[in-house]
Amino acid sequence: MTSYKELGLVNTREMFAKAVAGGYAIPAFNFNTLEQMQAIVQAAVETKSPVIMQVSKGARNYANGTILRYMAQGAVEYAKELGCENPQIVLHLDHGDTFELCKDCIDNGFSSVMIDGSSLPYEENIALTKKVVEYAHKFDVTVEAELGVLAGVEDEVASEVSHYTKPDEVVDFSTRSGCDSLAISIGTSHGAYKFTPEQCTRDPKTGRLVPPPLAFDILHEIEKRLPGFPIVLHGSSSVPQDEVDTINAHGGKLPDAVGIPEEQLREASKSAVCKINIDSDSRLAMTAAIRKHFDEKPGDFDPRQYLKPARENMKKMYIHKIVEVLGSNNKL
Ligand SMILES: [Zn+2]
Repeated sequence: MTSYKELGLVNTREMFAKAVAGGYAIPAFNFNTLEQMQAIVQAAVETKSPVIMQVSKGARNYANGTILRYMAQGAVEYAKELGCENPQIVLHLDHGDTFELCKDCIDNGFSSVMIDGSSLPYEENIALTKKVVEYAHKFDVTVEAELGVLAGVEDEVASEVSHYTKPDEVVDFSTRSGCDSLAISIGTSHGAYKFTPEQCTRDPKTGRLVPPPLAFDILHEIEKRLPGFPIVLHGSSSVPQDEVDTINAHGGKLPDAVGIPEEQLREASKSAVCKINIDSDSRLAMTAAIRKHFDEKPGDFDPRQYLKPARENMKKMYIHKIVEVLGSNNKL
């Protein structure tokens, strides 16, 4: 058993309470590689922001869960080395699907886990979440649950249709399951192709797709029922069109990739939404920088030559999200 406290990590409890009260949201960035980890830590330290580093099933398959845990431990030490005296870093399991997986992460240094029972019948979701909560709370690990279903594809989490969270269920669900935060479905979606062209309108000036707006009425209704309770938004990449353009201009092919407009995320951050998950935007920033580099310098073959600009571009994106969208800067 390794407690996250020994690693210098923190859980989400105090962080979320401050974020809800302060009207901002904590960034939850997924990571799979060294360069992503470095960029996340550099961005968080430079902006004095708390940060959630999260590990999905795909990340564990790609990089190995043990290695990622040690990278998070390294992230804390790296933040200190960069001059941050008291880093507020959470290591979070994204979309845990079984009690056993959550337990394994809790036993091995994660400070927060998500148990995603959103595809199960309501009562089974509660029972599974409650089981994880009871184990996690023994070790002061916080638990995120999900109610409602997001559309889209994220690693191995996929659904064709979305079901908005029903405000009538949130009090019963959070009380009986004991979860510390709740991921809801109000129209965000996993992946870089969040919406089909048919679901969108087109901006007549630019020809770009304009996605349907988030269901703020449902969010506000949930806030009313659960005052001050931490709410989480998954599938909240914005799919920056300049990165998509760079990718497409240098041999890529991402037609009609579209995300959640940043103004809407900014608005959500001011509410009880205190954790916003961003994964695809990091992938796009990395890919755009690498494609551009190879196009301009076809003779390069040292990975450091193209991973360095990739890391820089991701860092720039993380800082932008923290300062311009979530408002979590200067909150340490
Ligand atoms: Zn998700």
